[in-house]
Amino acid sequence: MNANGGRVALVTGASRGIGRAIALELARHGCHVVVNYLRDREAAEAVAQAIRDTGQGAITVQADVATAAGAIALVEAAMEAFGTIDILINNAGITRDGLLLRMPEDDWDAVLDTNLKGAFQCIKAVQRIMLKNRAGRIIQISSVSGTRGNAGQANYSAAKAGLIGLTKSMARELAPRHITVNAVAPGFVDTEMTRALPADAIEQAVGQIPLGRLGSAEEIATAVAFLASPEAGYITGQVLGVDGGLGM
Ligand code: NAD
Repeated sequence: MNANGGRVALVTGASRGIGRAIALELARHGCHVVVNYLRDREAAEAVAQAIRDTGQGAITVQADVATAAGAIALVEAAMEAFGTIDILINNAGITRDGLLLRMPEDDWDAVLDTNLKGAFQCIKAVQRIMLKNRAGRIIQISSVSGTRGNAGQANYSAAKAGLIGLTKSMARELAPRHITVNAVAPGFVDTEMTRALPADAIEQAVGQIPLGRLGSAEEIATAVAFLASPEAGYITGQVLGVDGGLGM
């Protein structure tokens, strides 16, 4: 909690999609929010302004979380603005889909660097603060691709499965200081990431979802907000599927 009351949440990749919905939902739960973005300053500012309009604090910070320098600068900016960090949401992610047979090494590296190493960098930059506070919440946005695998997404599935191993190891390392570490594994969610897929791929995906529809970013955000809440203090090392039943 910072000096003005209210917990402080840092959300990576929060200018749009699931990250944006998480930032807004955490603000609704009384958090001040650090809105990280990579490129779209205007969109990030709009998210921060929407949060400030509700009476909570919000800042935007440009940073590439795939680099140690980016993650450190992000955490420093958050500390300068709010004095502490209570919640870290590792949401930033990219896809570079294709069969492994034709996958350039660059596509492997870019996806692993952003989705998996980005979380490592941010946890590393934030954990000292949480260790000192003897409290904290860390949540990774994994994917059903990480729990089940997906043809054409070997790089993405490896990164998202890696996040689950990272989550469980960090849950064990940080439990003695009352810091919980969990992952949310969305199925298919209606965002720009999935809108980039061909229409027949979406139709095929929906056909496999027991609930028969895509999820919304808000439905992922409410699950994240629960895991970030004080009420979820006895939940750690878990992977919560929010996927319309796709992952069962
Ligand atoms: P999105 O593309 O709309 O948002 C991803 C955000 O991450 C973007 O704002 C992007 O700029 C940011 N980002 C990318 N690289 C970054 C970096 N190096 N540093 C900082 N920010 C960076 O996609 P989304 O659907 O909102 O996805 C959010 C998360 O949810 C991702 O981790 C994604 O893998 C995961 N996810 C999405 C779905 C889905 O169906 N949309 C399903 C499962 C998991």
